[in-house]
Amino acid sequence: MRLCFASNNKHKLEEIRNVVGGKIDIISLADIKCYEELPETRTTLEGNSLQKAEYVYDHFHVACFADDTGLEVDALNGAPGVYSARYAGEHRNSDDNIALLLQNLRNDTNRRAQFRTVITLVGLEAEPVFFEGIIRGEIIHDKKGISGFGYDPVFVPEGHSRTFAEMTLEEKNQLSHRAIAVKKLAEYLRNRTV
Ligand code: IMP
Repeated sequence: MRLCFASNNKHKLEEIRNVVGGKIDIISLADIKCYEELPETRTTLEGNSLQKAEYVYDHFHVACFADDTGLEVDALNGAPGVYSARYAGEHRNSDDNIALLLQNLRNDTNRRAQFRTVITLVGLEAEPVFFEGIIRGEIIHDKKGISGFGYDPVFVPEGHSRTFAEMTLEEKNQLSHRAIAVKKLAEYLRNRTV
């Protein structure tokens, strides 16, 4: 079975191929010659991932899944959430995003937060199918570690003492929000094809 992942991010593609296994051929946007920027104008993670997957399915007629992730901070009522990439502005700079987050949390003792990934699969069933991955944790006061990306230097997952940015990619991929959602997708596909 061929399934398009609506992304050209090599790391995500590799991670997903590893989890899904060899039976399902995960192809990228480049593989289907989709070079345009996918629309991402909805106000929820579910909405954005659905919008991206539907765009690919409607324009390229290939079964497809897309993901969208956000950092949801309890004391900020779930912000930055769907706006995580551009929290500090359209220039999408991680250092600026982290600086704004720490600034907005400066008076809060409640540092609890979660990363949430939503994957939406379109084109295999009559209706879209959603898969969610959540990892709870807390936002520390100063950046630690240099691995990873985004908010990794200030996020310590529950039950751990190091930030995502202090972990190896393998360690992070064992427990991340994206890994949880991808494992659910992989299990769904396995059950569907047996
Ligand atoms: P995307 O939907 O995977 O593009 O993620 C949107 C934004 O959420 C990214 O630009 C990052 O700011 C943040 N983000 C997503 N996943 C992670 C992660 O694993 N670690 C840190 N930040 C993340």
